[in-house]
Amino acid sequence: MTRSLGEYERRRDFRRTAEPQGRKRAARRDRSEPHFVVQQHDTSRLHYDFRLEVDGVMKSWAIPKGPSLDPRDKRLARPTEDHPLEYRDFEGTIPEGEYGAGTVVVWDTGTFRNMTERRGEQIPLGSALAHGHVAVWLEGSKLRGGFALTRIRSDRDESWLLVKMDDDEADARRKPVRSEPKSVLTGRTLEEVSAGSDAR
Ligand code: MN
Repeated sequence: MTRSLGEYERRRDFRRTAEPQGRKRAARRDRSEPHFVVQQHDTSRLHYDFRLEVDGVMKSWAIPKGPSLDPRDKRLARPTEDHPLEYRDFEGTIPEGEYGAGTVVVWDTGTFRNMTERRGEQIPLGSALAHGHVAVWLEGSKLRGGFALTRIRSDRDESWLLVKMDDDEADARRKPVRSEPKSVLTGRTLEEVSAGSDAR
């Protein structure tokens, strides 16, 4: 899987939006664990963008209902364009008229481990994604434990499902999308980020 930020760049006017241009594409080639981020995005329709660091970019899905800790919930996830690594720190407002106009909050972030296996052997994330199934262990502030992403449609309406795996971190009662809305970066709510207030 190659880096593919062309679509990301084509869709944005970096003179207008404060989103990162992603110049430091090859910046991370170190031994530390890869990062994930979940960004709450209040655009025409509120959703949660789930991004996993894979091969130098953030592979991305838009999840209308956001992640669930209940293994019985299957959350629809629509793939979106690869984003630069720096995007995981982006919080703010994309101006009116720009792609994705609206407010972005860093709802959760942390590191993750690839748990995708086949017959006891780990499958690299890039090929796991190409084959339409990945399992990751998230170490976030709100999201922890195993999560599986599985492609259920590969046509123009490509769709995946994000499902909490049934492990010690599963919790059907805790509903962080509802009960833990604030930014893990700045402690701000969507409304506060939108108003440009600074809670730091
Ligand atoms: Mn989005």
